[in-house]
Amino acid sequence: MSDRFISTKYRTDCYHCREIADQIITAVPYQAQVVCDHCGATRVFIPRIEAVDPSGKLGKGLKYPVWELVQDATCRNCHVTGPHDIFVSSRILTVRCRNCRFTHFYKFDLEFMAGAEEKGL
Ligand SMILES: [Zn+2]
Ligand SMILES: [Zn+2]
Repeated sequence: MSDRFISTKYRTDCYHCREIADQIITAVPYQAQVVCDHCGATRVFIPRIEAVDPSGKLGKGLKYPVWELVQDATCRNCHVTGPHDIFVSSRILTVRCRNCRFTHFYKFDLEFMAGAEEKGL
């Protein structure tokens, strides 16, 4: 039992440290995060919309570069476990069920460095 919805990673050059490193993507219904495995730079996304999106409109208008991933997950709408399309841009993160097109649309909220809390932030 876990409320973890999506957990995957994408290897690319980090926007922060510029190293090629795994960017660890986790999403739960109330939040999504992208964390650089190399420098710990963390981006937090908060949910804006959850909707069935047959046309794929919610994924449109993303600013490039966009990471495109596919990850198996259990859909909260149709309860089918199967492939979900994940799009990550600098401002927006979406997770869409291929079975019913139910889409979680997250908007960038804040970023911080892992360990920043030790400095009193
Ligand atoms: Zn980094
Ligand atoms: Zn679904």
